[in-house]
Amino acid sequence: MGFLAGKKLLITGVLSNRSIAYGIAKACHAQGAELAFSYVGERFKDRITEFAADFDSKLIFDCDVGSDEQINQMFTDLSASWPTFDGFVHSIGFAPREAIAGDFLEGLNRESFRIAHDISAYSFPAMAKAALPYLNPKSALLTLTYLGALRVLPNYNTMGLAKASLEASVRYLAESLGNKGTGMRVNGISAGPIKTLAASGIKDFGKMLKATAASPIRRNVTIEDVGNVAAFLLSDLAGGVSAEITYVDGGFSQVVGGITDPAEA
Ligand code: NAD
Repeated sequence: MGFLAGKKLLITGVLSNRSIAYGIAKACHAQGAELAFSYVGERFKDRITEFAADFDSKLIFDCDVGSDEQINQMFTDLSASWPTFDGFVHSIGFAPREAIAGDFLEGLNRESFRIAHDISAYSFPAMAKAALPYLNPKSALLTLTYLGALRVLPNYNTMGLAKASLEASVRYLAESLGNKGTGMRVNGISAGPIKTLAASGIKDFGKMLKATAASPIRRNVTIEDVGNVAAFLLSDLAGGVSAEITYVDGGFSQVVGGITDPAEA
């Protein structure tokens, strides 16, 4: 029996089998969790049905997190199968292309700023608010963030601002859910770069991958690396961890600018 046996978790953000959320689903399923999935767009329904079947699930919900109505509807619909559940993974990010390319100021405009923050940051606490009536004691919420929230990284630009907001929401949410006294927790994982559909929208993403391949573990992280840490954070094994951003980046964030790859010396 795995350490997530008996837990019911909603996983958002599976778009392909390269998605970070797919790696998280894999690890949670291996540890015995029951899973439900959300996706966005009718055209992906068949694909997500197949992914859900990979994890013995028939529960899939079409939900664009840009709509409060759709977020509320998703949790109402989920409650028909699961009257209560044990948490969710928010693995969702989007910014218009001009906001994640080239010079920060050149790409800046009010509308792309709004969209990046709405979809990539606001949606996490918004989902928590809508899910709250259905969350069991000791529920755990998890989101995915990136080092660009803290440091200036080429091209990440407006998405860095949205991720900074998302990380702050992890802390405020942890307090807000924690003060209900039922042991609910909220965490984020800051993942190193992984080639996914969302990541390929960032200009020169290949350069980011190359730079982090020289991290202390001398390779890029995988969706399995992230999935395993996510499964732990979603489990009662991590009952003492909340309001935290855990780095799954091979140590890159700790040595930025100070690394020498012996192979290149
Ligand atoms: P991905 O493209 O596989 O997943 C992104 C997901 O966001 C997709 O499933 C997409 O459908 C969903 N999404 C976008 N707009 C949405 C909306 N309006 N409503 C609902 N869902 C929406 O890419 P990924 O890299 O697995 O991204 C998952 C998360 O991980 C994102 O928050 C991303 O910023 C974060 N992250 C990725 C990396 C990386 O290098 N890939 C690194 C650190 C953090």
